Amino acid sequence: MPTKYVVVLGSLLSGLGKGVVVASIAKLLSMRGIRALPLKFDGYLNYDCGTMNPFRHGEVFVLDDKSEVDMDFGTYERFLGTSMKGEFSLTGGKIFSAIIEKERRGDFLGSDVQFVPHVTSYIVDYLKGVSSRNELDVLIIEVGGTVGDIENHYFLEAMRQLAMKEDVAFIDVTYVPELGSVGEQKTKPTQIALRNIMQLGIQPDVIVCRTEHGLSDAAKAKIAMFANLDNGAVIDDHDVGNIYALPVHLADQGLDKYIMARLGLRDRISPSALKKSMAEWSALCKAMENERAPGVCIAIVGKYTKLHDAYASIKEALYHAAAKSSVRLELKWVDSEKLEGKSLDLGEVFSDVNGILVPGGFGRRGIEGMIRAISYARTTGVPYLGICLGMQLMAVEFARDVCHLAKANSTEFDAGTRYNVIDLLPGQADASIKGGTMRLGLQAARVRRGTLAHKAYGTGIVHERHRHRYEFNSSYEKTLASKGLVISAVTLGGLAEIIEWASSFGIGTQAHPELRSNPMRPAPLFSAFISAAKAQMAARKT
Ligand code: GLN
Repeated sequence: MPTKYVVVLGSLLSGLGKGVVVASIAKLLSMRGIRALPLKFDGYLNYDCGTMNPFRHGEVFVLDDKSEVDMDFGTYERFLGTSMKGEFSLTGGKIFSAIIEKERRGDFLGSDVQFVPHVTSYIVDYLKGVSSRNELDVLIIEVGGTVGDIENHYFLEAMRQLAMKEDVAFIDVTYVPELGSVGEQKTKPTQIALRNIMQLGIQPDVIVCRTEHGLSDAAKAKIAMFANLDNGAVIDDHDVGNIYALPVHLADQGLDKYIMARLGLRDRISPSALKKSMAEWSALCKAMENERAPGVCIAIVGKYTKLHDAYASIKEALYHAAAKSSVRLELKWVDSEKLEGKSLDLGEVFSDVNGILVPGGFGRRGIEGMIRAISYARTTGVPYLGICLGMQLMAVEFARDVCHLAKANSTEFDAGTRYNVIDLLPGQADASIKGGTMRLGLQAARVRRGTLAHKAYGTGIVHERHRHRYEFNSSYEKTLASKGLVISAVTLGGLAEIIEWASSFGIGTQAHPELRSNPMRPAPLFSAFISAAKAQMAARKT
């Protein structure tokens, strides 16, 4: 059967949670045995997300195949439990560099290259290519931005053309505000948004309405009427708190059945198997919403703490691990720069904390504050987890405070440091371009028996995703190990991958295990960290 398409657009404003709607639809169709995967179009002219600032754009998500993609891919993978490929991320930058390359090659000889038909046909062919290479029943296309943006206008025209040839269901995600004092839901913005969409020659099949407390029947009927749809095609998407509960909420309103019928699809699994996978997913959601479980407080010490999206996967991985350990996660965001004031009492800052995590990062700002937090964790026995930069700084702190290598540092922050315990990876000094040149993607490491890491992973060879330019300098291995730093995993090329303290729970990894965590399979190092934090919390109480 040829691939069918679901195209998800956004109206009125960004940040409505379109990515979660897309992930939920993919999840619901997958539960019915349909091979469905999301593809995201982003209109910016960057080739990929690798060169963007996480403070503006949220975290850069890395796939197994080294692609640096939008953070929505984190949501897709966490919902679906699969590893996605870079070809499912299409950007304006990728489209136009391909078009220019084709033009130079002479593919369009004799014609003036235009948005229609050249760019739009390229997009349609690209989507069909991805679908057939991956043998998809349904490709769910998330169109980044909102209808009306200059950046996605030509892409929407391509979607209209796709619908002329293929079976396409259009879904618009919109916002229905409530006026404070009266509490009445206002549909006029959505009516105007619908007019904008229809002007493009697109008739939505479903309208998903973001609301605060749930869509009223009156608002639903009005939107349905203006959209030429039945009331059943207008779906409520109110704030559910736990995003993993959204598929259940959408299924309760029949969205998956509606899409299946619209595209002429039939379930590929038995009703009892469907019921079972729905029940399993609901149970996972319940475990994550366990309000009565004992609270465990984790401090995330980083420089982007004002924008939590910069640490989206870290946050999610902590939630997955907390659900597994039957604890309720409390997050405390600590701006590392603020820890640099010498007069600050760290005992006070971390008084209510059961674990400290230093996430990945780039650049010098806030580094000394992170090192102080790590030192506090090591000397007081508060469990510590260091991710990438957090692992590198764990080595720096140990070199300075335990091995007395004064001002030891990473050459990223002090190029002339006498003790360069962290240094550029081989080959990085010659990398003249910045895009896609870090050590990226899935990499293997060998874990040593008898270590915390081995206990956590329960296996000798582990695979995690990476994104870094610097590494632990192996010429310091002996000095640091002689004072008690444990090198618990090395890459197949011999680089230190995971390090540990022998004195208390402290573990740092050069990898980003948060990028492979999902509610079904929490990342092992995060689970070990949350268990240690839970034990610390229990010990503190007695
Ligand atoms: N800035 C460090 C490096 O490039 C750490 C990177 C990270 O935390 N992802 O190696």
